[in-house]
Amino acid sequence: MKSYRKELWIKAPHRRQYINITPQVEECLRESGIKEGLLLCNAMHITASVFINDDESGLHHDFEVWLEKLAPEKPYSQYEHNGAEDNADAHLKRQVMGREVVVAVTNGKLDFGPWEQIFYGEFDGMRNKRLLVKIIGE
Ligand code: ZN
Repeated sequence: MKSYRKELWIKAPHRRQYINITPQVEECLRESGIKEGLLLCNAMHITASVFINDDESGLHHDFEVWLEKLAPEKPYSQYEHNGAEDNADAHLKRQVMGREVVVAVTNGKLDFGPWEQIFYGEFDGMRNKRLLVKIIGE
């Protein structure tokens, strides 16, 4: 069995942002040489997510509105976690949107359903953060 590991760095220019990372993940898969197996991609930070959904700007706006209703950024004072930090909302948003995705690898490709794309969801951006890509298989 082959095993591949890579860290990808992202610095989102805004506090909250969705970035389609499918091309970078596909590049990792090519580099690994693995044709059949499983690919894991996870955020290595607890205020960011990796998830699969549609690359459609209206939907991304809907995520923003929905998450702001669930866990509004402000006022910062509404959260116990805030004080030294101001990112309690980002922890909560990440919890809802998830930590990682696992994708089947078939014939050297990500075995997606129609419209599936991999996104990095940033909820406390404007600094360097890491993603992990791990691929195992043959
Ligand atoms: Zn925090």
